[in-house]
Amino acid sequence: MILEIKNLHVKIGENEIIKGLNLTIKEGEMHVLMGPNGSGKTTLAKVIMGHPAYKVSEGDILADGKSILNLSTDKRAKLGLFLQFQEPVEIDGVGFVNFLRSSIESISDKPVNVRSMLNDVKSEESELKVNYSLIDKYLNKGFSGGEKKKSEILQMSLLKPKIAILDEPDSGLDVDAIKIVAKNIERVAKETGMGTILITHYNRILSYMNPSFVHIMEKGRIVKSGGMELVSQVEKSGYQGLGSDE
Ligand code: ADP
Ligand code: MG
Repeated sequence: MILEIKNLHVKIGENEIIKGLNLTIKEGEMHVLMGPNGSGKTTLAKVIMGHPAYKVSEGDILADGKSILNLSTDKRAKLGLFLQFQEPVEIDGVGFVNFLRSSIESISDKPVNVRSMLNDVKSEESELKVNYSLIDKYLNKGFSGGEKKKSEILQMSLLKPKIAILDEPDSGLDVDAIKIVAKNIERVAKETGMGTILITHYNRILSYMNPSFVHIMEKGRIVKSGGMELVSQVEKSGYQGLGSDE
């Protein structure tokens, strides 16, 4: 899949949050998105998935050349888009296994073999070094911040998206968990050819991965694109000097 974001403008109410953003992601590529708080990174992630609170006022989002703006979130998921939430919600009463099963079924249009799915979950849990099994839990209920992030990475592993948008998969994780999550994102990307938009504030998670591109977002626009050298620059001197209106 090629995901193209073209001259995207996004409004919440009358407030323009994204102001002419261009970005193209191909399968197998990892694009890192960094930028100060409030620059619109999460908004971009949610708009790509079709969150109803955000209105695209100009521009387009294309998957393989076709606009997805009129598609509902589940149709976008079916095309192969996946979003890992910056702040996953706890859903009491919805069992993790049922949730996973219906997600996979709605994306693949095929009944899931539950036994084989549970085997996959167990194998992913050991890859992710999850402390206790998610299998008999409600979705994210009572999970620590780190467990929620791992739960979302596990969902990604099983859903095998074509392009995954990962919104701060490293926030709230201890150093060991960051390494585990990074290695698992890399593994899934290698195994499946998945493309990734990885939103992060920190160098650490990137030290375990090989991003193709790094983009700096400020005030609703990408103000600079490059490689890992941009990450070191941000680490050293913050976002000063990277913006267009320095
Ligand atoms: P980032 O993820 O880069 O920190 P966000 O996309 O979360 O930034 O937010 C960008 C801007 O949009 C902020 O000024 C934020 O207050 C505003 N914003 C985001 N979501 C909403 C919302 N649902 N309602 C009103 N304002 C919002
Ligand atoms: Mg955010």
